[in-house]
Amino acid sequence: MNKLNRPLSGWGRYPVETCASERPERYQDLRASSPTQIARGQGRSYGDAALGETVILTERVNRMLAFDVVAGTLRAEAGVTLAEILDVIVPQGWFLPVTPGTRFVSLGGCVAADVHGKNHHHDGAFGQHVIDIELILANNSRVTCSATENADLFWATVGGMGLTGIIGEVSLRLIPISSPYMQVRHHAAANLTATFALFENAALDDAYSVAWIDCLATGESLGRSVLMTGHHAAVVDLPNTLQSAVKIKPAKSMPFDLPAAALNPLTVKLFNQFYYTREGRKTQPFFAHYTDYFYPLDGISHWNRLYGKSGFVQYQCVIPTAGAFGAVTALLEKLAVSRRPSFLAVLKKLGAQDQGMLSFPLAGYTLALDIPMRDAGVLALTRELDAIVLAHGGRVYLAKDAVLNAQTFRIMYPRHAEWLRVKQLVDPHGRFASSLSKRLNLGAQHG
Ligand SMILES: Cc1cc2nc3c(=O)[nH]c(=O)nc-3n(C[C@H](O)[C@H](O)[C@H](O)COP(=O)(O)OP(=O)(O)OC[C@H]3O[C@@H](n4cnc5c(N)ncnc54)[C@H](O)[C@@H]3O)c2cc1C
Repeated sequence: MNKLNRPLSGWGRYPVETCASERPERYQDLRASSPTQIARGQGRSYGDAALGETVILTERVNRMLAFDVVAGTLRAEAGVTLAEILDVIVPQGWFLPVTPGTRFVSLGGCVAADVHGKNHHHDGAFGQHVIDIELILANNSRVTCSATENADLFWATVGGMGLTGIIGEVSLRLIPISSPYMQVRHHAAANLTATFALFENAALDDAYSVAWIDCLATGESLGRSVLMTGHHAAVVDLPNTLQSAVKIKPAKSMPFDLPAAALNPLTVKLFNQFYYTREGRKTQPFFAHYTDYFYPLDGISHWNRLYGKSGFVQYQCVIPTAGAFGAVTALLEKLAVSRRPSFLAVLKKLGAQDQGMLSFPLAGYTLALDIPMRDAGVLALTRELDAIVLAHGGRVYLAKDAVLNAQTFRIMYPRHAEWLRVKQLVDPHGRFASSLSKRLNLGAQHG
């Protein structure tokens, strides 16, 4: 297959690396054909997880193979995007059981990162809803695995960041819905104590929840936020105006890179003040189309250009419940002192740990912060954030990571040795490798 050398990056646009890329046109062409390679879906992981010597672009391998509209199951090739799936299943009364905050990701990418959504505290991560997958191994044999068949390989692949093989096909259980709308409610919280109180208030709990945090607020307002909860609306609850046909809005685009100075503490502070006031006022339940509720950032394509050419890192960590308040306080204080304006900061509550050996979620709170990559000081800052996360028994999300080191990774992911045993059985020569796996020494023994 022809290879094309070209510069590639993840969604954070840091790092940028020249990779040899090949783009199979058909399912039969998906294979390990180079000494080392890594599959890539839509490149929506933020760092270097989908970069490597050879990158296999799966975007053309995207057929939907079977959709059982009665049972609510779907089988598709791994390159299909969630957006393509939703276009087909929503009009038929079905929805994805778990979705990340963008629909422009591939099915394979969702399995490989075992992505979580705003309903993790109730429904777990993506892998819990996968019926089975077909995996293409390093020797190019194809194997089916699921929670009951080749279970170790399945749980090493769910969350395994593409390092056990190429995910070829995925069968998934869907959830029923009766309308494309969400019934949403916003709750403003004046500081972090109030934010945690909202999350822990069982009377306010809903199917989905997420808090947008104003991470430039300091002092008594540290951690002020708007908690956004919601559930799929029943069609009978919708006002007549919404019961008519659904209109899909074309996405606006960010046409150029913003100059580095455009996002400074003052502009971000002004935006946050405006957003906190506007969204915090919506205390009465309202209806929102599912695309607006789940994917607000998808409305502006290439919003990653907001941070300029040098890109940004998204620092996402999870902290076990007991220490979460203290750790999130310390993380926000550290960020505020750094004077690096994070445009986006979100907090979610996660449920029980997932079965994937390298899956990110564990019972606690996850905080995600965008940090512009302006200078080497960012790396020093993330080391300080790592120290806080480690001290509270937490971990950093590999699908967002570009800066963690191997030693810290091993403490954060205690099931790595178990995962490595499976990896070495199916890929003894380390043919599946990414820049992330090399940086974190994922394919090597401990110590
Ligand atoms: C705006 C935005 C919001 C997001 N919100 C969330 C969120 O709420 N929750 C969450 O969990 N994540 C979230 N993410 C992260 C995103 O869901 C994951 O990074 C996902 O893996 C990206 O899918 P992709 O197809 O772009 O994969 P890529 O970025 O191309 O690849 C990601 C990983 O998957 C592997 N991979 C991809 N396809 C295959 C395949 N066919 N076989 C084997 N391995 C494969 C790659 O090797 C790589 O390790 C968000 C990302 C963005 C940009």
